[in-house]
Amino acid sequence: MGSKERTSWNPCAGWRSWQVIKSVRTMPDDKLCPICRLHQINPKQSLKGTLVDCPSCGVFAFDYPSDHQFEHLAKHEPEKLKQAAAMLFVRRIEGLTEPIFIRFDRKVVAPHEHYVILCFDDLVAEYPDTVSAQIERCLRNFCVLSERPGQTIQFHHQEELAFAFLSLETEAWTYYANNLVSMEYLKYGGSPNSYFVTPKGWERYESLTSGQGARSNPVFVAMWFGEPDRTKEMKELYDLAIEPACKSAHWAVKKANTVPHNDQIMGQVLQDIRVAPFVIADLTENNPGVYYEAGFAHSLKKSVIFCCPKDQKKVHFDVSGINQIRYSVREDLRSQLENNILFTQGEGPHKSK
Ligand SMILES: [Zn+2]
Repeated sequence: MGSKERTSWNPCAGWRSWQVIKSVRTMPDDKLCPICRLHQINPKQSLKGTLVDCPSCGVFAFDYPSDHQFEHLAKHEPEKLKQAAAMLFVRRIEGLTEPIFIRFDRKVVAPHEHYVILCFDDLVAEYPDTVSAQIERCLRNFCVLSERPGQTIQFHHQEELAFAFLSLETEAWTYYANNLVSMEYLKYGGSPNSYFVTPKGWERYESLTSGQGARSNPVFVAMWFGEPDRTKEMKELYDLAIEPACKSAHWAVKKANTVPHNDQIMGQVLQDIRVAPFVIADLTENNPGVYYEAGFAHSLKKSVIFCCPKDQKKVHFDVSGINQIRYSVREDLRSQLENNILFTQGEGPHKSK
């Protein structure tokens, strides 16, 4: 441990090239990346929208109306842009390098051949919402960047280091860095902008990503998103039953961060399941993705609470002896789920929410 060997991390590695949009023309003026607002980028325009290749945020595209959304955020909610930039950086170090099409609405759209379609608000929602979760996330970033224990991670630019610590604000990222060092999870690597993960840090990371996961992490909800005519119904099932049940029991909660039918986002889903304290799987319409996610959670020895509408006859496994809730209406699911969570998992750590 503590090897002096230096390995530089090249943020350009794994970039997808530009060919994803065929007919491109170069804009005359260089502009700043609309998300991190840090790097000069050279956006390419096509009929489908604008394509950006930012050294921090990676390759992403957006359609014309989003220009105004980005401008509005820069003026009124710059924090959201910074959080989105940090999460795009995190996605790339986790190996999720597919080009992203960023949308500001939640319209159901057909899967895109070249892009993972991602809703901007979902990206921002990935940003850990408590200081302890942020510090844990920083540790995870360093573990993910380490190819082997003891490896020193050397950053060439301070902004890369700042992103690894989730914030472009010097005060914030140095606070996370100092904390991780004082908790002995990270050590300075001996030269500026370099750190390595200590054995204690690895132990902490492993306890966060295996078994029960951290209690402060969001509960993962696997559910069908609905065909267009039922999207609203399923959204309400989440917004008005599942989420409030978790929150009343003081657990943070997150549903699969996807647009329907988009398989490429699976990497993030599996990572979310890995770190979740437990999983809720709603079996409405017997969606194969939900079974897959529940099976994956089972393989990690996580508790899965199954929910299924009472009038749904078929369920694709033997449910006898499995923790399950049969519900009639939304209210019914909400109260049964809250009781089930409190009974099987106890109260969560998010009491202030
Ligand atoms: Zn950027």
